[in-house]
Amino acid sequence: MASTADVCSLQTYLDLPDHTMDQRIFAAKAKLGSDVVILGHHYQRDEVIRFADFRGDSYKLSQEAARAGGKFIVFCGVHFMAESADILAQPGQITILPDLNAGCSMADMAEITEVEDCWETLVRAGLTNECGDGVTPITYMNSSAAIKAFCGQRGGIVCTSSNAPAAFRWALAKSSRILFLPDQHLGRNTGYAQGIALREMVVWNPYLLNGGLDRERLREARVVLWKGHCSVHQRFLPEHVDRVRIQHPGIRVIVHPECRWEVCQKADATGSTEGLLSIIRQAPSGSRFAVGTEIHLVNRMRKEFAGEQKNVQSLDQSGCLCTTMFRISPQHLCWTLENLVDRNVVNQIKVPEQVKHWARVALDRMLEIS
Ligand code: SF4
Repeated sequence: MASTADVCSLQTYLDLPDHTMDQRIFAAKAKLGSDVVILGHHYQRDEVIRFADFRGDSYKLSQEAARAGGKFIVFCGVHFMAESADILAQPGQITILPDLNAGCSMADMAEITEVEDCWETLVRAGLTNECGDGVTPITYMNSSAAIKAFCGQRGGIVCTSSNAPAAFRWALAKSSRILFLPDQHLGRNTGYAQGIALREMVVWNPYLLNGGLDRERLREARVVLWKGHCSVHQRFLPEHVDRVRIQHPGIRVIVHPECRWEVCQKADATGSTEGLLSIIRQAPSGSRFAVGTEIHLVNRMRKEFAGEQKNVQSLDQSGCLCTTMFRISPQHLCWTLENLVDRNVVNQIKVPEQVKHWARVALDRMLEIS
């Protein structure tokens, strides 16, 4: 955690323009050598991701960092990603988030005490016991370490947007019901693709008594979806798909499964960030895509594939920015690295051992089924 003195010195960095940071970041990185590994999430801005040793989605990056073995893992992403990196890190590795305010609005929508209350209701309704015999909790990677540990302790599992279908199949083979956290859209899209009807999925609203569900409705449900969403992906609407198809006949619409069910139903394909990239990579030259995901990634796709005569645009021309991810600036990165050169660790993310243990159990189950 940064001390008051560190925070003061951070302010002096924040007053400087972006372009003055480049040489300093390069120099600090060179001095740290193999001691540091910088991770850049796909949604990170260009001025920061250019310094990343690895780019990717959150899970892939955490694995890369553990394999790379640098003493310091600097995660240019959001809080839950740095927690996951700390959970998967090798002993002695230190994980750092350059700005502690870089959270994820979706992960913040499931608080551990709210989830425990929900579980208690499910137990009282006779749908499960404390160990998860009856309901299997699944949490999306985009959740706090405490939620991952909650799932691990109750026979549950973590999933990513690419292995969510496998997690659903695994869970339904061992119990008749699923509690899906925290993204209702990924849960609904996955459940529907697995043949579960929309009426068999209910939404648990943590701000209402008993989640806003009566006991009968709860008993009928095969999937209880937590009322969470990604503010970036939820902005895409079915009318955006209709409009782009009228404006550009023949265009392929590909979207992230954090988008609404109605949008995913109208799209030609859905995919994780890596999945979307792979669809475009494999398409023939001359293909045209409207992509429903974060705008920094879409802009990078547009530039990267222009040389192959593939045209990439955002599904919604107003563009959807992940504002929390955007908090990581070149100034924060420079401040972090120059402090490390002075052997001063700022903004360390450290998951408590007990939480780490059970979160790891849930992550290991995911690896086993992948
Ligand atoms: S894009 Fe959405 S889910 Fe991803 S980090 Fe930003 S708010 Fe969270």
